[in-house]
Amino acid sequence: MTTAFSPTWQHAVVTGGAGFVGSHLCTALLDTGTEVTCVDDLSTGRAENIAALLEHPGFTWVEANVAEGIPVDLPTDLVLHFASPASPADYLRLPLHTMETGSLGTRHALELAHANGARFVLASTSEVYGDPQQNPQDERYWGHVNPVGPRSVYDEAKRFGEALTTAHADTKGTDTGIVRLFNTYGPRMRGHDGRAVPTFVRQALAGEPLTVTGDGRQTRSLCYVDDTVRGVLAAAAHGMRGPVNIGNPGEITMLDLARLVIILADSDSEIRFVERPTDDPALRCPDITLAHDKLGWEPRVAPVDGLRRTIDWFRAEAATGTRRTMP
Ligand code: NAD
Repeated sequence: MTTAFSPTWQHAVVTGGAGFVGSHLCTALLDTGTEVTCVDDLSTGRAENIAALLEHPGFTWVEANVAEGIPVDLPTDLVLHFASPASPADYLRLPLHTMETGSLGTRHALELAHANGARFVLASTSEVYGDPQQNPQDERYWGHVNPVGPRSVYDEAKRFGEALTTAHADTKGTDTGIVRLFNTYGPRMRGHDGRAVPTFVRQALAGEPLTVTGDGRQTRSLCYVDDTVRGVLAAAAHGMRGPVNIGNPGEITMLDLARLVIILADSDSEIRFVERPTDDPALRCPDITLAHDKLGWEPRVAPVDGLRRTIDWFRAEAATGTRRTMP
């Protein structure tokens, strides 16, 4: 299957470009000849993610909080709005920042796109479905979200961002798209960001017990980052308004994921069951019919391959860290 992605952009602004997904997007855009300005305040991102990109003549990093404004003067024809804390550990630590980034930050990113006549794509999330009462979730499902629960700062910021994006398109004619990303994993995740894959990989490589929450029967669908990036750029190039789900429909229980990581990392770690966080969704699985039919997109990387690449990257990172701290 071929994906309908034919890049025609001269210059893209990627907010959150120093983060996990954003930095892979920057790399993919540069690889296809698009100049990239990354706007990132490093609140949850890492300078290491863009260290190599800073050597590229087509790449610029602007250190700014998008909630305060986006100081980019260059003409741009694509704005990918990916700035936002994304892991529960981060948005619970940064609740107001998360809400301001999803509201004021989204407004500034939309205004930048509108002023330039550029295409705008909002990184939304499967969290807009909350603890879903239908499985799998398609884009017509309105969700089941607790508006005052601990996760609400993220879920509601993203829901507000979707509403604002829709209002901008309706009232100002801004060319907008919304991608709802489901759990994405891969190299450049932070081992302590609290998400299942980096947590399990870090623990397995350190020989520590893998901490599975609850009874481990809750499921997630895990999409390798290269697949996610291909889906986002396909939605950007297509011009669809969305929202469109981008995720891997293959569901896996957290217990099976922990067992698989132990095997692939060749680890002796045990599994330890710990308390499940409040409002942790029991199920999460995308219906990707829309992405498949409109964009010709579907994930290509099998979990075993994606997890192997992720484990290899974490191993290499740990070795670099060890070399750095050696006298
Ligand atoms: P990440 O934390 O690695 O990256 C987010 C980046 O945004 C970081 O570099 C951070 O420094 C930056 N940022 C945060 N607030 C900012 C602000 N106010 N101004 C400027 N920069 C700011 O997270 P990620 O996993 O790469 O997620 C990227 C985007 O994709 C987020 O919008 C997230 O909601 C969305 N998303 C991710 C996933 C996933 O599984 N990774 C799933 C659904 C949605």
